[in-house]
Amino acid sequence: MTETLHIVGGGMAGSEAAWQAAEAGVPVVIHEMRPRVGTFAHRTGDLAEMVCSNSFRSDDDEQNAVGLLHWEMREAGGLIMRTADAHRLPAGGALAVDRDPFAAAVTAALRAHPRITITDEEVTELPREGHWILATGPLTSAALGQAIAAETGAEALAFFDAIAPIVHAETIDMSVAWRQSRYDKGETEEERTAYINCPMDKAQYEAFIDALLEAEKTEFRVGEASSAPDPTPYFDGCLPIEVMAERGRETLRFGPMKPIGLTNPHAPETKPYAVVQLRRDNALGTLYNIVGFQTKMKYGAQTRVFRMIPGLEEASFARLGGIHRNTFLNSPTLLDSQMRLKSRPNIRFAGQVTGVEGYVESAAMGLLAGRLAAAEIAGRTLAPVPRTTAIGALVAHITGGADARTFQPMNVNFGLFPPLDGVRGGRRGRKDRYRGYTDRAKADWTDWLAGAGAPAATTDPAHSAA
Ligand SMILES: Cc1cc2nc3c(=O)[nH]c(=O)nc-3n(C[C@H](O)[C@H](O)[C@H](O)COP(=O)(O)OP(=O)(O)OC[C@H]3O[C@@H](n4cnc5c(N)ncnc54)[C@H](O)[C@@H]3O)c2cc1C
Repeated sequence: MTETLHIVGGGMAGSEAAWQAAEAGVPVVIHEMRPRVGTFAHRTGDLAEMVCSNSFRSDDDEQNAVGLLHWEMREAGGLIMRTADAHRLPAGGALAVDRDPFAAAVTAALRAHPRITITDEEVTELPREGHWILATGPLTSAALGQAIAAETGAEALAFFDAIAPIVHAETIDMSVAWRQSRYDKGETEEERTAYINCPMDKAQYEAFIDALLEAEKTEFRVGEASSAPDPTPYFDGCLPIEVMAERGRETLRFGPMKPIGLTNPHAPETKPYAVVQLRRDNALGTLYNIVGFQTKMKYGAQTRVFRMIPGLEEASFARLGGIHRNTFLNSPTLLDSQMRLKSRPNIRFAGQVTGVEGYVESAAMGLLAGRLAAAEIAGRTLAPVPRTTAIGALVAHITGGADARTFQPMNVNFGLFPPLDGVRGGRRGRKDRYRGYTDRAKADWTDWLAGAGAPAATTDPAHSAA
């Protein structure tokens, strides 16, 4: 008899994982704590509830990375996309969803599936045996959060994100900025030039501080901070930049914007008054985060204020900053390439708790985890998803491509994709480049789906030991 797959959490990721595994012939039990135990954001007992906006964002699968993710999930027979399409609302190029009928239809489809059982229990311990996927999301219950932290170490599980904006490297003006680590520290040339520096004179710094102080900010929602096992969103070294600026106009110049240990090769005789540093965010070197610039400024304000930084006037942002209640693992250190917890390979993680961000990204990670688990139960190991695809780029990022020291939740974006050869860089080449990425991804995803069903050599140690 086929072994059962247990899935904790019936949100975007858990629902899709259950569907994929059940369709592959595996019996599934979904353990969803709602409505018995609630969260501050969910309103209903339905599975796949959209807790805030009703948008799956852009549906353009030729020019947009999230649109491409939609395409890949549709090709894989995804329940979340099929149901979203059935409950689509008019929204231009975006995929907006009629949220209550959507969640009700996902719940009904899962309840009606002959291989799926749904229980309304909260799981509070890490299971030692059996096949499990934990897809408990940004609002993982406190008891389970503590059990995960006990296994991974408290520093490897965050209860809040602290996202600094991330910039596409190719949009930084290197005739203004330069590469240098503070005091040229590092053993290798790569380490000595690990940071990109943007200089400011006094007038630019003062204008920047004014703009920070005046910018519109977002607030925590009612219950957001207090729902975490550790309800302290701002810990040392992680204050929003605008809060640092409020503490004194010079605070940033003595903090993340200090100009010491750096020489601007474009003007070696002029000492910058302040310097904004950007640090490489992925192994590909296509993304850079602005160091120490976690913020609760509204998105529109962030774009305006950050483009005041010399060298970032034309910056294109892979993601903007934020601080939210968000339980997530340090996946690059904790998960293997099959999304299993290295210390307990009977447990996979999926969804937002793995450090992706958003309904669509979470469902996509559920889709993959469901397929990986189903294959494992059938005695097979699926070939890695090509990282040229949106799903492959995301899973490669969270399971190793991202810098573990600065790991924060990530939306899908073309900066995660391996660059294309022979395609024009910069803003002008963007349209052709994006089309190149999506054409390549579609071909590779189609091949992976066609080949993934075939038995692969079982090289997986966890499986051979079983
Ligand atoms: C306040 C808030 C607003 C957000 N707004 C947006 C937005 O506008 N757009 C967007 O794309 N994303 C938004 N997100 C992120 C969004 O939550 C995720 O993108 C998406 O829902 C994550 O899917 P998931 O399956 O990983 O988690 P969820 O959809 O949250 O599903 C996790 C499920 O696990 C259950 N659960 C938790 N702990 C346990 C346990 N111990 N035992 C059993 N069940 C458990 C929960 O009840 C929940 O149903 C928001 C998040 C929050 C917290």
